[in-house]
Amino acid sequence: MRRDYDVIVLGGGAAGLLCAIEAGKRGRRVAVLERAERIGKKILISGGGRCNFTNLHCRPENFLSANPHFCKSALARYTPADFIALVEKHGIAYHENIKVSEVHRDSRFRVLSEGNELVAEALVVATGGLSIPKMGATAFGYDLARQFGLSIQACRPALVPLLWAAEERKHYGDLAGVSLDVIASTDGRRFREAMLFTHRGLSGPAILQISSYWQTGKAITIDLAPDADPLSPIRASPSHRDSLALKRALRSALPTRFADRWLALHSPERLPNAALDAFAAELHHWNITPVGDEGHDKAEVTAGGVDTSELSAKTMECRKVPGLYFIGEVVDVTGHLGGFNFQWAWASGYAAGQSV
Ligand SMILES: Cc1cc2nc3c(=O)[nH]c(=O)nc-3n(C[C@H](O)[C@H](O)[C@H](O)COP(=O)(O)OP(=O)(O)OC[C@H]3O[C@@H](n4cnc5c(N)ncnc54)[C@H](O)[C@@H]3O)c2cc1C
Repeated sequence: MRRDYDVIVLGGGAAGLLCAIEAGKRGRRVAVLERAERIGKKILISGGGRCNFTNLHCRPENFLSANPHFCKSALARYTPADFIALVEKHGIAYHENIKVSEVHRDSRFRVLSEGNELVAEALVVATGGLSIPKMGATAFGYDLARQFGLSIQACRPALVPLLWAAEERKHYGDLAGVSLDVIASTDGRRFREAMLFTHRGLSGPAILQISSYWQTGKAITIDLAPDADPLSPIRASPSHRDSLALKRALRSALPTRFADRWLALHSPERLPNAALDAFAAELHHWNITPVGDEGHDKAEVTAGGVDTSELSAKTMECRKVPGLYFIGEVVDVTGHLGGFNFQWAWASGYAAGQSV
């Protein structure tokens, strides 16, 4: 059976649904094709059902991309305030649950699915990234981009927990559950947020943020006591400089389990000023080289994707293939933690929705 539309949107996630709503408001006949049994699944599970659906402080600096300027136009035309107004106003109207097998293009796009052919002038690819395959993530969008000769920035997990090397796992693996405020940095980027010890490595917002910038084989530096000198009580009273005083000082600045472990591994034998300085320096510059990350199964997003040089920053339409659009996470624009990825999905969906 053949059905005709103006626009076919592949993927009923954040970007695809917003694009469909906007195109629908303009009177376009839209079909949203979603392979999972429910649309908008990630919106529902994100943040345990209470996601950061936008961020009021959204700026281009909150996004990673091979072209950091690409996201500016779309983000400027659809702001967090626009999305908040939408949340207050609408429910989401309709969807189709369907499995797409092939896409062809002659004068129009032809999407083949379970014996049906859907035909439209515009095809919007909003199939998301590779994160959390068990929730429906597929590489379909990237494969489609390749099918149409578009280039792709290498995909990798981002906003993802990092894994210990064997030695560090031995030392810290049993601290799982301990959390502390840190500054995590690598390659000139730094984030001050909570860090969480896990059995396999490090997680928590500070680590998720820095993971997006971390490169395999490189170290990350962790300041375990930002803006503080945990040793100041010891420096202030030289007559009480002993291991007990050191333990007390460290326990007052850091979680007890971590403080004790750190002391067991790093405590100097004697405490002259030079040794105290070295001990403090290590607390502020703990260098670790993760062996890897937890991969797409645990990553919140996928960095990389359809190269932005292939797309119009105003409409998200492919320069080489008129009528073909890519929006949302499948594009090489990746936000920081805290609502930025949804804001990119809304903004790019809006941009395409105004154009299709
Ligand atoms: C656990 C978790 C928590 C998160 N929390 C936040 C948060 O709090 N704030 C934030 O900003 N971001 C958060 N994110 C990231 C955010 O969910 C994504 O960046 C955003 O959903 C991307 O929107 P999208 O529409 O591009 O892709 P998605 O929302 O992933 O939608 C893509 C859709 O396409 C469908 N699809 C895939 N392949 C096909 C195919 N072949 N045919 C048809 N349909 C297909 C998928 O089933 C899916 O429904 C979180 C992500 C995860 C995994």
